[in-house]
Amino acid sequence: MLKKILKEIKKYETIVIARHIGVDPDAFASQVALRDSLRLSFPNKKVMAVGTGSNKFNYIGKLDKLEMDDKTLLIVLDTPDIRRIDISKDLKEFKSIIKIDHHPFVDKLSDLEYIDTKASSTCEIIMKFLDEVGLTCNEEIAEVLYMGLIADTNRFFNSTTPDTFSIVSKYLRKYKFNMKEIYQKFYLRDLKEVRFEGYISENMVVTEDKVGYIKITDKLLKKFEVDAAAPGNMVNDFNFIDGIVVWLTITEDIKNEIIRVSIRSRGPEINKIAENYAGGGHKYASGARLKTMKEADKLITDLNKAVRDYLDKEEGNGN
Ligand code: AMP
Repeated sequence: MLKKILKEIKKYETIVIARHIGVDPDAFASQVALRDSLRLSFPNKKVMAVGTGSNKFNYIGKLDKLEMDDKTLLIVLDTPDIRRIDISKDLKEFKSIIKIDHHPFVDKLSDLEYIDTKASSTCEIIMKFLDEVGLTCNEEIAEVLYMGLIADTNRFFNSTTPDTFSIVSKYLRKYKFNMKEIYQKFYLRDLKEVRFEGYISENMVVTEDKVGYIKITDKLLKKFEVDAAAPGNMVNDFNFIDGIVVWLTITEDIKNEIIRVSIRSRGPEINKIAENYAGGGHKYASGARLKTMKEADKLITDLNKAVRDYLDKEEGNGN
């Protein structure tokens, strides 16, 4: 399939690379790295990485303005569902579409879909793609891909497989990028955010069913001077807490008139539950979008039940 994807790419002079709304480092890094590799590999092609930017990820790269003609190829990265593709054009305007993703399948976009749910991240797939089909890479591109991968795996923890280490090891040997510098750039934190995380730790509510949650109002975000994306960026730090099996941050996002939810689990699968709340994602790492806090309470009830069922089953299995 990766060879077929390259063949399709070769046919087009104008290529747009998109990814999901609510940009995160894996989505952003994979599109920037693929764009830069295609530009170096095919200097005559016009290749753009598009979508809503985020100042927070400036160190990964810059996005482009979408310009298309009547023969444009769209490559969608890291996005399983059509409604979450961050693009200002109708998909029908593109001559051809390719999807590359590591999320569980949701919508069919085209006949050219490379989905590997065992891959740790979309950046891992792009590393494999460049390597296998012989597209140009360099130290900067390798560094960007590494950043996306460490972000999505939480520094080689989530979804990391022997294949992840193999491809990263190959890149490290070949491109010799400076890991220490990357970690310093990537994990430097704002003191305000650290203080805010302290607030979450102190105020997280834990239900009888071992669901930990926190409701964060806009007023609270303002008090700590952090944005509505901050709680979701911290949710992974609440893993491995004895007495909490599923945990979530529920955040008022006044600007977008929604309530953002980030959910994590080290027990039951949660993505199907998230799908009932305008959400989805991975089995143990999902997100949702709510309209009211009442809906949040319903979601908590569903998650309580999921943990209860999961723990009952575990007990039944003698675990
Ligand atoms: P987050 O908690 O925002 O880091 O999201 C965790 C995972 O769930 C990521 O793979 C996201 O792409 C996915 N996700 C987040 N929000 C949504 C949503 N509203 N709909 C579908 N998937 C989502």
